[in-house]
Amino acid sequence: MVLGAGMVGEGLRSEDLEFCFQQLVVFGGGGERGKMGAGGVMTDWKDLPMELLLRIVSLVDDRTVITASGVCTGWRDAVCLGLTHLCLSWSKNSMNNLLLSLAPKFTKLQVLSLRQVKAQLQDDAIEAVANFCHDLQDLDLSLSNKLTDQSLYSLAHGCPHLTKLNISGCTAFGDAALAYLTSFCRKLKILNLCGCVPAATDRALKAIAYNCSLLETLNLGWCEAVSDVGVTSLAFGCPNLEALDLCGCVLITDDSVVALATRCMHLRSLGLYYCKNITDKAMYSLANSRVKSKRDLWESVKKSRYEEGLVKLNISQCTSLTPSAVQAVCDSFPDLHTCPGRHSLIISGCLHLTSVHCACTFQAHRAINPLAHSAH
Ligand SMILES: [Zn+2]
Repeated sequence: MVLGAGMVGEGLRSEDLEFCFQQLVVFGGGGERGKMGAGGVMTDWKDLPMELLLRIVSLVDDRTVITASGVCTGWRDAVCLGLTHLCLSWSKNSMNNLLLSLAPKFTKLQVLSLRQVKAQLQDDAIEAVANFCHDLQDLDLSLSNKLTDQSLYSLAHGCPHLTKLNISGCTAFGDAALAYLTSFCRKLKILNLCGCVPAATDRALKAIAYNCSLLETLNLGWCEAVSDVGVTSLAFGCPNLEALDLCGCVLITDDSVVALATRCMHLRSLGLYYCKNITDKAMYSLANSRVKSKRDLWESVKKSRYEEGLVKLNISQCTSLTPSAVQAVCDSFPDLHTCPGRHSLIISGCLHLTSVHCACTFQAHRAINPLAHSAH
């Protein structure tokens, strides 16, 4: 696009802008596009119509947008009005200062990605976001290890429209602050708490279940403090749950899976990797939930929104499971596959489960044409 990548990092100079402007006029052909709305001919890049500025903003990369926002009042206004998505993950050392200066300008942000490799964000920058970006819907703070509970309290007050929040790997947040946030951000649909060991406790899960009934996707991977109490609360409070990752939640037992199988009729993906307490009882409750959900089929047809049944199940390292119980799950959910390429029933590392097979395998054996199985 007009503001090329070559200008990134070295700042946008006046000559560059003149060049951009000339190009625009050339491409506009001097027709309607080359004229201002009021009928006057554009003579300077500062005269670019707002509409065109907004279009430029939507096409250039985030670094260029930031540079452009500092050029002149017109450009700043265009960026402020037009910028809804921003990613600062490329900033390796100055993300905090950048955010402090940008948040007051970019007040229309809806999607903000602040994922870090080396933790650099601090509470003051998140406070700035909460103070100015009230339309924020999607926030990625993964690996922000320097942030404290103060950030969650700020977001609770400033960003009530969040539907997607990723705080995976944020190990300094506590469960009281997370519970507090959910009491304000009640529209959350996607929440990633992977590795948030101190925050993702049963207490926090109870609050999520109570406040966030719209929740569809929750990642609790390696949240070792989570027990059946928390998962059962979720099963009762979040009936729209479609994906739940409990990998490495070593305390949970069959009770959690039974509650999910009974209450969450739209569950599509379940991660139980390393949940060593899970037994065949959990598998049979999942297999039987299929029968129940078929009974409710008409309801779901009416809603027409939901496809039904598990499409992904990870039971690797669940060493207590027997082949017959896992086969029952596989038989109940035709979208679960063990065949190469599809592999949506993940049993890697379970040598005792190698006899479990998806329907494709049996069909292939029965088929006269030996090539039938190559469909996968
Ligand atoms: Zn298959």
